[in-house]
Amino acid sequence: VEHALRQAAALMRRSLHAVALVGAGLSAESGIPTYRGAGGVYERFGEPTIDGWELFTHDPAEWWRQAIAHETAGSPFSEAIERAAPNAGHYAMADLEQMGRLAHVITQNIDNLHAVAGSRRVTEIHGNRYKVRCIECGARERLETVNLDRLPPSCPVCGGLYKNDVVMFGEPIPRDALEECYRQALAADLFLTVGTSAVVYPAADFPVLAKRRGAPLIEINPEETALTEISDVVIRAPAGVALPALVDLLLVP
Ligand code: NAD
Repeated sequence: VEHALRQAAALMRRSLHAVALVGAGLSAESGIPTYRGAGGVYERFGEPTIDGWELFTHDPAEWWRQAIAHETAGSPFSEAIERAAPNAGHYAMADLEQMGRLAHVITQNIDNLHAVAGSRRVTEIHGNRYKVRCIECGARERLETVNLDRLPPSCPVCGGLYKNDVVMFGEPIPRDALEECYRQALAADLFLTVGTSAVVYPAADFPVLAKRRGAPLIEINPEETALTEISDVVIRAPAGVALPALVDLLLVP
């Protein structure tokens, strides 16, 4: 791990546009369970149903009623997110951005912890659970400011339907986010994957795309992933340990 960290730091020093793809593993040390992997939500509760998006397109008012009822009833997963605070890994990513070592973060997490930790250049490819999004024009707004007395709520900009920003199975990735991700993958001269099993598409494509254009890949994950084989540097450590260690190495002139 020591050696891999030094190799990663050397690559980051040489890089002008490093991009990271982040998965649920980064927030694991904040007490939010991952979906896949040991102890993950899928292992304990099974895979989610895939009819959410269909229900939304057929009966958005009913979808909202169910979503509100679900939130009111609470679930171990959403309660863990509500309670969570950023961990050392989130703060280290914000530090790397501040130090000019990390140009952009593409996160699959919906928990808002990058923003809380101070990262600014972040694309939330699967949305943010504290926001709603207009499915017509893509405008986003904080959920807590939306009037839910009349369902379904609609967009004050274009009148389109509002939906929670979190992208469900079957739902297309919002266009603005997807375009930004491709821009970043193509601009990257170094690509880090952090705490992602890299099996959810299209997110898992971005590192592959960057690699094809010559960007070295750094993987930070305690377990093997779908990307391990094509990674140039593999750091087998928790993100909350590896990322602060990288910051420390980069602080030394
Ligand atoms: P995943 O659940 O499929 O995989 C998690 C990965 O994290 C695994 O490879 C595991 O080995 C690794 N991991 C576990 N602990 C780690 C640690 N301390 N440090 C580094 N890595 C660690 O996650 P995914 O690939 O992000 O895809 C799952 C989907 O689930 C995403 O689309 C995301 O939207 C959603 N999700 C979000 C959250 C969140 O917002 N915090 C949590 C769970 C799932």
